[in-house]
Amino acid sequence: MGAKKPALHFVRRQVARILRQVLAGNTQHRALASIKSLVYKPSIVAKKATLALICNTLKYLPVIKDIVHSVGLLQGRKNKGQDELFYVLTHDLLFEQEILPSGKEEIFVLSRKAALRAAFVRLMMKKNVTEIDGLLPTESRQLQSCDIPRYVRVNTLQITVDEALEKLEELGAKVDELLPDLLVLPPGTDLHDHSLVLQGSIFLQSKASCIPAHVLSPDPDWEVLDACASPGNKTVHLAALMKGKGRVTACELHKKRLQVLQDTVKRAGANNIQVKHQDFLKLDPNASDYRKVRAILLDPSCSGSGTTVQRMDHLLPVANDDPEFQHDAQRIDRLASFQKAALCHALSFPAVERVVYSTCSVNQRENEDVVQSVLEHARSHKFKLGTVLPNWPHRGLPVFDGAQHLLRTDALRDKTDGFFVALFVRERSQTFEQQRKRKSSEIEERKTKRKKKKQKKLN
Ligand code: SAM
Repeated sequence: MGAKKPALHFVRRQVARILRQVLAGNTQHRALASIKSLVYKPSIVAKKATLALICNTLKYLPVIKDIVHSVGLLQGRKNKGQDELFYVLTHDLLFEQEILPSGKEEIFVLSRKAALRAAFVRLMMKKNVTEIDGLLPTESRQLQSCDIPRYVRVNTLQITVDEALEKLEELGAKVDELLPDLLVLPPGTDLHDHSLVLQGSIFLQSKASCIPAHVLSPDPDWEVLDACASPGNKTVHLAALMKGKGRVTACELHKKRLQVLQDTVKRAGANNIQVKHQDFLKLDPNASDYRKVRAILLDPSCSGSGTTVQRMDHLLPVANDDPEFQHDAQRIDRLASFQKAALCHALSFPAVERVVYSTCSVNQRENEDVVQSVLEHARSHKFKLGTVLPNWPHRGLPVFDGAQHLLRTDALRDKTDGFFVALFVRERSQTFEQQRKRKSSEIEERKTKRKKKKQKKLN
């Protein structure tokens, strides 16, 4: 019997398989699955090591390919489906550690070690750099060094923030300064298999994506509509903010995504949500079911350009050098016209007092331009823009008078997804400012209580 192969031998092959999948999806311009979602599949072993190796291989892929091609490593090889494994092995040989001859691919790469190392040195000299990171484009260096904290939203339908904090304190959890039901943990904290996640007591949600429900801030007894709901993270957030009372109607157009929405609602244990397989644009605002809707959350399909860092798509080659991908103007135009139609429709519900429009896009075309294009329609229905989180420093792009009411987040600057949030408030709604003041004093009260409790523990 041969010697036992080291764990790294298997991890590399696992990484090569995932790499093949993401690169294939990437070439077809189709987000088949994000890197993270492939790594966190149950069948994947040693997830942390796998994620680290895949990220590093992708980070240096252009450099690795350059070196591999310059020495002709893949030329004349019979098995053409193994390019990715050779990229991973080259990565480990040059940038990580000495590789062991645990398989025939390892043995082959080791046999070309001198040529690979010489090509690497030549490349550094040609680019006049002394460190490997000097070979990467500046922007990609910045994105990769941005370590985004792990945010979790406490599902207050199941557990209080203090209870969740106590259970996660040993992992370094703290309550977010801005959003009272959000906990912040160190970057890289892996909670995918944590019992609190599996039972729906906490949701792995970025900070930015928790902002829209807080901005809508419905009263517990309201009728609320989540216009484009699946996978339902914001739907169940709304249900929790409403303390499980009132009613949230969650619309989803696509049948396949409906099941995901239903699963989220079930996991959250929310009883005040009604899921509908429905095109929001075809919903009759004057039908008896919707006449009384007081708040609408519209988080429509968008380009998702703000989530590239979280999804780690910025590591993919196409995100960096394919101009067609970056300037996919037709697709953005199609999305923007749907977004505008959906926003106009939301503003036409007779009893609606607040509409929140949000996207996880950083494109002006899907954000400020959409808001600006509906302003006249909004005014005719007596809506004006409300200021989204007035103390948040980053506002909408100043492309029209009023854009200062809008909120933007940026992955690098704010260490979360790139997001956009707009709030429309109906002028007759007098409750809004009063409610905002009441809520912020409640948050301050809770913070003081928590501080006192902590102090007491220390004494
Ligand atoms: N708000 C969700 C969350 O936080 O979990 C994410 C919503 S996602 C950005 C947009 C969703 O809207 C997709 O599931 C898409 O299928 C759905 N959608 C697109 N067009 C729609 C329409 N006309 N009516 C209802 N849902 C639609």
